[in-house]
Amino acid sequence: MSVFDHREFAEHEQVSFYHDKATGLKAIIAVHNTNLGPGLGGCRMWNYANSEEALTDVLRLSRGMTYKAAMAGLAQGGGKAVIFGDPRKDKTPDMMREMGHFVDTLKGNYITAEDSGIAVSDILLMSENTKHVSGTFSKYSFDGSIADGNPAPATAYGVFAGIKAAVKHVYQSDLQGKKVAIKGVGHVGIRLAEHLYNAGAKLYVADIFPSGVNQAVAEFGAIEVSVDQIDLLDVDVFAPCALGNAINHQNIDHLKARIVAGAANNQLASDEMGVKLTNNGILYAPDYVINAGGIIDIYHQRSDSNVDKLRQHLNQIGETLRTIFVEAEESGLATAKVADSIAELKFK
Ligand code: NAD
Repeated sequence: MSVFDHREFAEHEQVSFYHDKATGLKAIIAVHNTNLGPGLGGCRMWNYANSEEALTDVLRLSRGMTYKAAMAGLAQGGGKAVIFGDPRKDKTPDMMREMGHFVDTLKGNYITAEDSGIAVSDILLMSENTKHVSGTFSKYSFDGSIADGNPAPATAYGVFAGIKAAVKHVYQSDLQGKKVAIKGVGHVGIRLAEHLYNAGAKLYVADIFPSGVNQAVAEFGAIEVSVDQIDLLDVDVFAPCALGNAINHQNIDHLKARIVAGAANNQLASDEMGVKLTNNGILYAPDYVINAGGIIDIYHQRSDSNVDKLRQHLNQIGETLRTIFVEAEESGLATAKVADSIAELKFK
């Protein structure tokens, strides 16, 4: 497996591999760019099919964090960690503590946080062996939810602000009566469902596990859809909130939604998908712009800020997207391309 020649290498500053026989921990940390500050990004635990898949994931995610932090106006760089294994079966407290040791070897160049498969309790275990963690406490909650350090509520609120901006741009209207399909009703997806429901949207949901789907059906009147149909529904907005590659060669020409806007990182299987979405008349809210709420929350919780400034910053996601949508329309470029150019001006 090559790293420097990897198609996703993208000038990473540091890529570290770690194996601990005693706990079974196998992990990779990637730090993409620290020009604006230390690399901040979540730690994901996933049952990767092989190490190539894990490396691809961590490189793409960490690069995305550099762009995300720059676009959100934060003095942070981009980094990410992945742990090999099924979080429901393979995770142990000692493995999480050992991950703390691994994070500590980077001496603050990388600051970890929650991501898919990793909870606040896991980060607390890591913090026994490193101080370079975030998302373990909150000074305040912007929406009245429990302030436990979990960035998902802020992420969901930011995605909601972004979907509102996209709907306004395409339909010149609010969310009342709009149909939204959510793929993945986990920490972020379920909270997004609640915001959308409260704004009058009609929901369709799919997940590989039933708990989030059942909750959305029971509490928000959502309609359950199979995971292989959710992206193809005749709805106004498709919101990918599971893992990456939601827009790919298989579904790109069959999407009926006029907007793709959701929480997942790396929604486009390749850059070409962004161009195709534009050509097919579909407005895409670049993933790292719309899902920046979590990192914005962490940033505010770590600095001398307050709940009003945090909420204002989260709402700014809608404004940033509006700028991107207009610039993309005027230039004829894909929204993802326009976002990249704006971000690169900030961190390069
Ligand atoms: P999560 O693990 O709580 O939720 C993901 C959900 O997707 C789970 O319920 C899972 O069962 C489901 N899922 C996985 N594969 C699926 C598939 N093929 N089809 C349908 N459902 C599937 O994770 P989360 O914290 O809600 O994050 C969701 C996405 O948003 C991830 O891509 C994450 O990287 C991204 N994100 C999260 C945050 C955050 O604050 N948590 C911030 C920024 C970006």
